[in-house]
Parts: sequence; C-alpha cells; structure tokens
Amino acid sequence: MNAELPELPYQYNALENSISEQVMEWHHDTHHAGYVDGVNSAEEGLSEQREAGDFSDTASLLTSFTHNYAGHVLHTLFWNNMSPDGGGEASGELRDKIEEDFGSYENWRQEFEQAAKSASGWALLVYIPREDELHNVPVDDHDEGAVWGAHPVLSLDVWEHSYYHDYGPARGDFIDNFFEVVDWSHCEQVFDRVSG
Ligand code: MN
Repeated sequence: MNAELPELPYQYNALENSISEQVMEWHHDTHHAGYVDGVNSAEEGLSEQREAGDFSDTASLLTSFTHNYAGHVLHTLFWNNMSPDGGGEASGELRDKIEEDFGSYENWRQEFEQAAKSASGWALLVYIPREDELHNVPVDDHDEGAVWGAHPVLSLDVWEHSYYHDYGPARGDFIDNFFEVVDWSHCEQVFDRVSG
C-alpha cells in the first residue's frame, strides 16, 4: 500500500464561516499529511521485517498502521463530506433511512450531536449492511470504538486540532457550524454505494 494525501476538494478558505483557512491548512497539510506518512512508514517497516524474517518490532508497526490508516480514511471522508455549497438536511433515500432508523431527522441529529460532544476523536454516521441499519458511532482517537463491517457515511472530526484554534472550548458552536457545510449529496452517494 502506498497512501497518498488527497487534495482538498475546495480552497483552504472555502469553509471559512465554519473552519478558518488557517485551521484547514494545518489540519490538511500537517495533521492529515502526518497520518499518510505514518501509513507509509509503517508499511515500509512491515515490509522490511517480512523480508528480513525479523519480527521484533512488528507489534508496534501494526498498531501504527491501524492508527494512521484509520486517520487517513476518516480525514479523507471528512474533507469530502463538507462543501462551501453544503448545509441543509439529508434528502432522498438517506433521509428516508435516517427517519426509519432514528424515528425522525431531528432525533438523528440530536443523537449525532451527543456523539460529537462526547467523543475524543470522531462522530460518525455509519451504515451496517448486515443489519441494513444506520448508527451513530462516537470514536476515540481514530479507531477506538470502531464497529466492524460498518461504512462511515458522514464523519465529523472533533479532535482539538479540528476546532480549538477557531472556537476554543465551545465545541458545540463548531458542531453547529459544521452542519452549515455538510455536503449531503456526497453522503447520499456514499450511502447509495454501500447500501446498494
Ligand atoms: Mn483531524
């Protein structure tokens, strides 16, 4: 595997009412880039150990891969599930499924916000194909609390590097403003793909 840092699908200042240009730059160019580098160096280390038949550092390399790859996947979704043309509410089949599984859209959103306020990492809306069900999942770090077989449809990064420079401790304001830039059309495409 050779992980690559994806380009942002918009300018650094495009989401400025929700996330400042400065935070977007740090977050994408330093933090996400760091996870991409972490994936590749873990992969390189594992490859060297396999070739040498020396597995003395394997456990730490495997843990490093998991941490960094989970971060890479979730950040890639995070950039793509926001847009300067975002906001509003889910529609189409995703909207119907949210209403079916959570009782109402408002219920879903309140539950998701609780995940986002409590997590030490991420809040995710995931689809679990084997149950044909959506769930809100709070994740610590990038992977603690992950649900196997679930596909993230919407991700919100609530690590402090994601909002503290802009909002200080007012994480709730960041969450409110995140909803102003959610690209529901992207979420609907992902849901369509993983539930099809
Ligand atoms: Mn982050």
